[in-house]
Amino acid sequence: MKKYKARKYLPNSGDPHGVLLQVDPQNLTIYDDGEQEILNLADFDLELSGIEGDRIRMSHRPTGTVFLTSDPNLVKELEKNGGIHTVEQRATYIHKKLRILPYKRVAYIGTICGVVLGIPLIFYLTFDVWVNMAVNNIPASVEESIGKAYIADSKTKYDKKSALWKRVDTIGQRLVKHLDKNPYKFHFLIENKNELNAYALPGGTICVLSKIVKEAKSDDEIAGVLGHEIGHVKNRDTLRHMLHSGGLGLVLSLIFGGEDKNQQIQQIIPLLTALESLNYSRAQESSADETAILLTLKSGYDPEALIELFKRFAKDEPKYGKAVYSIMSDHPMSDSRIEMIRHDSEIMRKKLKDEGLLAPKAEPVKITDTASNTTKSKDLGDKDKDKDEDDKDKDDEDSNKDDDDSKKENLHRHRILFWEF
Ligand SMILES: [Zn+2]
Repeated sequence: MKKYKARKYLPNSGDPHGVLLQVDPQNLTIYDDGEQEILNLADFDLELSGIEGDRIRMSHRPTGTVFLTSDPNLVKELEKNGGIHTVEQRATYIHKKLRILPYKRVAYIGTICGVVLGIPLIFYLTFDVWVNMAVNNIPASVEESIGKAYIADSKTKYDKKSALWKRVDTIGQRLVKHLDKNPYKFHFLIENKNELNAYALPGGTICVLSKIVKEAKSDDEIAGVLGHEIGHVKNRDTLRHMLHSGGLGLVLSLIFGGEDKNQQIQQIIPLLTALESLNYSRAQESSADETAILLTLKSGYDPEALIELFKRFAKDEPKYGKAVYSIMSDHPMSDSRIEMIRHDSEIMRKKLKDEGLLAPKAEPVKITDTASNTTKSKDLGDKDKDKDEDDKDKDDEDSNKDDDDSKKENLHRHRILFWEF
């Protein structure tokens, strides 16, 4: 006959010890440290116990001695051999309970896991909603201070004086005049860097990398890039992106964390380091394109010049590297984006014409060159073009000197950066 391991608890003693139990039709035999004791099964009460409900507790009524075991086969044997009505009946009941216990346990664990995982999942799925709430909770003045903090922290020397800057600023200010009422004061800065990129800081500051201005063939192309970045500012895309990176805790504290947004926003400042390489969503990009189209048309620029700029950069494989070329020609976004700009421009042009809001072609920006003190047009004559090319080559050279070691990385960055603006 099989023996079952159990723990024996004497009455008024919290100190159990191990014993072996054996069941026959009438009795329970206990093997306890070499001694043998036989107790009548009819004197036992059976129940399930333990934290997980999987321990069988056998209480001996006359002595108060308790035996605890976790072997369900003991119950099976009591069920079969108990021979005494109440014990047998109780054992059957316990046996059933033990059989459904694993399922119960799975359901229990499942519920716990569901709750534990479900709450973050709900937050994850609704994160955009929370981010939007947080964005709506941040005043434009705080956005402006984020932008200022970025400029102050940056080691970059921003250009706010040169002819290049003057050209960008003039075009930019022409564009923002046509924005609907908004809380932003727009500033345009030039960053001297040999990369094709532009980016928007929260609060209205737009940085354009010098190479993009030098590569632009017309004011219209610059206007397209600036209009797009103005769209990102207006839609608060950079702020939105930063809050996404900041995580749920930051977002919730901005929503529910009282009035001092400025203090809370300090946590965002470290996230500003990657501003140049932000990836916006397609929806954000296309909304920014829409702003560019509207503003350029209202200011007398051709919105489709942006397409020319895209295409030229794409074609210019030797200059920007194979990686750029392949991502431009294969990227599913490029064609659809170009097509959308073309389509929206056509519709918007017609609409503005009907409303009498379509501006005549803008005058090219006239720039006073501080060095030579002469006035020249940037819708360029050949001579100016040559000079511009020279500047660019020089710029390329300088940059090459700095960047030779990280050429590969630069290719990658160009690829990323191009697609951001
Ligand atoms: Zn963009």
